[in-house]
Parts: sequence; C-alpha cells; structure tokens
Amino acid sequence: MAEILIIEDDKAIQNLLKIALKREKHNAIAVPCAKDGIDYALKSPTDLIILDLGLPDMDGINVVKAVRNFNEKMPIIVVSARSDEQEKIKCLDAGVNDYVEKPFSSAELMARIRAALRYATVGEGAKSSVFVNGNLKIDYSAHSVFVNNKEIHLTNLEYKVLCTLAANVGKTLTHNYIITEVWGAGGNDANGLRVFMASIRRKIEKDPYTQELIRTEVGVGYRMNKI
Ligand code: CA
Repeated sequence: MAEILIIEDDKAIQNLLKIALKREKHNAIAVPCAKDGIDYALKSPTDLIILDLGLPDMDGINVVKAVRNFNEKMPIIVVSARSDEQEKIKCLDAGVNDYVEKPFSSAELMARIRAALRYATVGEGAKSSVFVNGNLKIDYSAHSVFVNNKEIHLTNLEYKVLCTLAANVGKTLTHNYIITEVWGAGGNDANGLRVFMASIRRKIEKDPYTQELIRTEVGVGYRMNKI
C-alpha cells in the first residue's frame, strides 16, 4: 500500500487512475494543477507522483524541478500525451523516473508503479531478511511490519523511517540523519518528522506516550531502544 499523488487536470484520467490504483490497494489523491501538487508533495506523506505535463498553471517539468528541490528520491512517473523524444529526454534529465505515453494501458502503468516503488525501497530489502525487537518484527523482504505477530500497515515513508531507526537500534539519530536517509537532504524538517513519528508510534507502541520503543531526544532526534 502506497500513498500516490496524481497531478492531472483531466477528470476522466484522474478517475481512471484512481480506480486502477485502488484495485492495487494504493491510496490515491488527485489534484488538478501544478501548484496544488507541489504543495501536497511538500506537506503530506507521498510515496510516488503520477504527473501530467500539460497542466493549466505551469508545465509539468517545473513540478519535477520543484519536487527535486526538496526530495531527491520520490519516484515520479510522467503520464503525458507528448510523444516527442526531446520532451522525454528533458523529463528524464530533470529527474523523472519513468515516462508513459497517453493513451496508456492501466496494467502497464501499474507494473511501472510497482517497479518504481520496489526500486525506491531496494536499499532496505537488500540488508537482511527479518528484524525483531521486543514485540516489533520487520520482514524486509515482504516489506511488512508486525506487532505481536499482527500485521501493521505503514505508509512507504513511515516504513522507511522505521527501518532507519531499526538499522541503528540503541543509537540516537539526529533529525537530519533520518531526513537525509528517508527523503534526501533537506527533504523534510524536524516538525514534519515529528508528525511521522507520532503516526508510527500510534501504530507500533503499546502506549504512544511511554516511548518504550521509540524515544524522543528533545532537540536532537530519535532512538529506537533495544527491548
Ligand atoms: Ca493535461
């Protein structure tokens, strides 16, 4: 399950994408212009962006440049009616991960999304198979998290934050370290990270206020305690 942002002004294509993404168990949100898209990607948990180039307020390529300014790693897939090779090269140079021409096959686009999400998390998958700490278990190869053997649903970014802490059990990680690992340098700030931590704690701590598993080091960062 991933949080997918659709930046597309054509309502029919928005709907087509939402239906296909829902079938793949993703959460999809659609916005009709570049400005709203950049705003959303900056402020809300997003795992992947599907981007149209012909937007009412600016060219989609500017969305790519804006997102890359604060997030180097976010997978961006362009879905565009422009079939010009130069256009594709411009997009790839600006940091687009993949380019699909309209009209597109939903099945093919979903496969490309799976590949992009897989690639985005390949770092964690390659490390080792299973991590256990107290009641928490992370199965890296299945990309799954369990508490008391019950599967917990984390967003892709929450999962990455948790994996970063798990890879450094017992060590305090600074806000900057975690942000650089998960979003890329400058990709978030301490306040944004706090929102993620609160959400992760609600999902994995017995009592989110005791900080048994994830401890806040005020003004510094976070640490996963060895249970
Ligand atoms: Ca359009």
